[in-house]
Amino acid sequence: MAEETIFSKIIRREIPADILFQDELVTAFRDINAQAPTHILIIPNHLIPTANDIKASDEKALGRMMTVAAKLAQEEGIAQDGYRLIINCNKHGGQEVFHLHMHLVGGQSLGPMLS
Ligand code: C5P
Repeated sequence: MAEETIFSKIIRREIPADILFQDELVTAFRDINAQAPTHILIIPNHLIPTANDIKASDEKALGRMMTVAAKLAQEEGIAQDGYRLIINCNKHGGQEVFHLHMHLVGGQSLGPMLS
């Protein structure tokens, strides 16, 4: 059984976070260390440690993460100019929190993908 992270506490609202969206499958909140004018994390409510751990049974939550990303991009006013959706995996991907999360980053030009 994988260890819970701080994100499970955010989902349960045991610690403060700027939560923008929550339903039965996913939670979205502003990153505390924003790298751009808009920097939101979208996470499944159940613990999936990394992208390597994704199972077919997770597809509904993962699909909802994409739908919520599109909705929040509209709400943030960044849909037209564009943005980036990023999932980091393990050491080479730079993953720091082992609860799968998608970064929604935008509000400025982001430059080449791997910079
Ligand atoms: O993809 P990675 O694991 O590196 O990203 C973790 C992200 O979680 C960081 O951008 C960090 O700022 C964010 N974070 C947060 N709130 C916390 C702990 C981490 O927004 N309480």
